[in-house]
Amino acid sequence: MSEHYPMSRRQFVAGASGALLAGAGAAAAEKKAGGQTSGLAIEGGPKAVTKTPSGQPRWGEPELKQLEAMLRQGSLFYWEGPQTKLLIERFQQVCPRKYVQTCSSGTAALHIAVAAAGIGPGDEVITSPVTDIGTVIGVLYQQAVPVFADLGAGTYNLDVADVERRITPKTKAIIAVHLTGNPCDLDALKALADRHKLILIEDCAQAWGAKYRGRPIGTVGHFACFSLQNSKHVTCGDGGVVASNDDRFGPLLQKFGDKGGDRRKWGGFDAFATNYRMSEPQAAVAAAQLTRLEAIAAKRARLGNLLTEKIADLPGIIPHQVHPDDRAVYWFYMFRMKPEAFRCNRSQFVKAVLAEGAPITGGYIKVPLYGEPVFQKHAFFAGRWPVKEMGLTTMDFSKHKCPEAEAILATGMRVPIYEYMTEEYILSVAEAIRKVARHYAA
Ligand SMILES: *Cc1c(COP(=O)(O)O)cnc(C)c1O
Repeated sequence: MSEHYPMSRRQFVAGASGALLAGAGAAAAEKKAGGQTSGLAIEGGPKAVTKTPSGQPRWGEPELKQLEAMLRQGSLFYWEGPQTKLLIERFQQVCPRKYVQTCSSGTAALHIAVAAAGIGPGDEVITSPVTDIGTVIGVLYQQAVPVFADLGAGTYNLDVADVERRITPKTKAIIAVHLTGNPCDLDALKALADRHKLILIEDCAQAWGAKYRGRPIGTVGHFACFSLQNSKHVTCGDGGVVASNDDRFGPLLQKFGDKGGDRRKWGGFDAFATNYRMSEPQAAVAAAQLTRLEAIAAKRARLGNLLTEKIADLPGIIPHQVHPDDRAVYWFYMFRMKPEAFRCNRSQFVKAVLAEGAPITGGYIKVPLYGEPVFQKHAFFAGRWPVKEMGLTTMDFSKHKCPEAEAILATGMRVPIYEYMTEEYILSVAEAIRKVARHYAA
């Protein structure tokens, strides 16, 4: 898997940026001028990163104020609760959609979207194999079938041509995961969805504050799903938001998040759903957190783009590829190495960068989702998969393949990006990567 790298030099240059070719020459000259590359820290040389900014508290006065107001309320239930209302209002400033439902997680938001879209037994939903498993949990619970499509080599997002190849008469929806907060090619995906009458669901869990061609993330698809889990840009510990502008689906969000019932006329259950409610304490914290979002998103965008600027000219390095008109909000940054361009493997590369003082990690999730044991064994429900037993699908995850996704996980390296980091620090991280890349250049 790790030695396989299917992208040609020409595709790489075309796919990433024109500056790369020119930059490659510059880096080679730099190596020559210096004669010997400077000593790597792993070999006893000085570290590239000498100062690491420390984390800052992610919550404080605004959250306390909101929590205090919440505790003076007579009810902590979401329905018509003032904290939930405030959260929805503030959410609509970030993602202007007509219908918004708060819920207990990003996984819940995605499940509500899939259920509200009417996706059911044997229906196919095309999505990314490199994502949080929460992207497909709702699909499987609705007895639908996730179909994994391959990814762009530098964007790590759905490859629209491969999505198209995987469309069958059973396909009902596409879940576009904006991985790391880098927007998918939404116009292309929406056009494809429209052409085949498919629902487009945006998984914005890692993309709070991102912009696609200037438009807020979550405003192109039929549904937008966000997570407020602790590791995301903004949080209330756990939580989620699902939104839609579509008059067919929007009115269904509440009932698919709340036991299948319409709270305005409780009873007469005409739909079946679980309880995915968010409470007022969570909404209070989340509402306060949203006042911090723009600063967080803008800062992360700046730091991630700066890192690209400083490593894009390195031969054999594929930087995180972001469209120049988009705002990526870097839940993390990921670059790749072309294995044939280096005299070391990824794990040696990572070790050397770590020794320089930059906290990088190899890969992201261990294997593409279809490689996980529960998929390989089709063991979703007490060891069984009813839709397969009933002949509603012939899917065999043990034969599923997404070569680029596998190559991304085998050659990608993750750099943490946080809003409290300084540009100076990112420059030193870039220098750590440069030192190591130059030293091991083949
Ligand atoms: C975090 C995440 C989810 C799931 O969100 P939870 O709140 O943890 O359920 C789904 N998709 C992506 C891309 C995520 O990063």
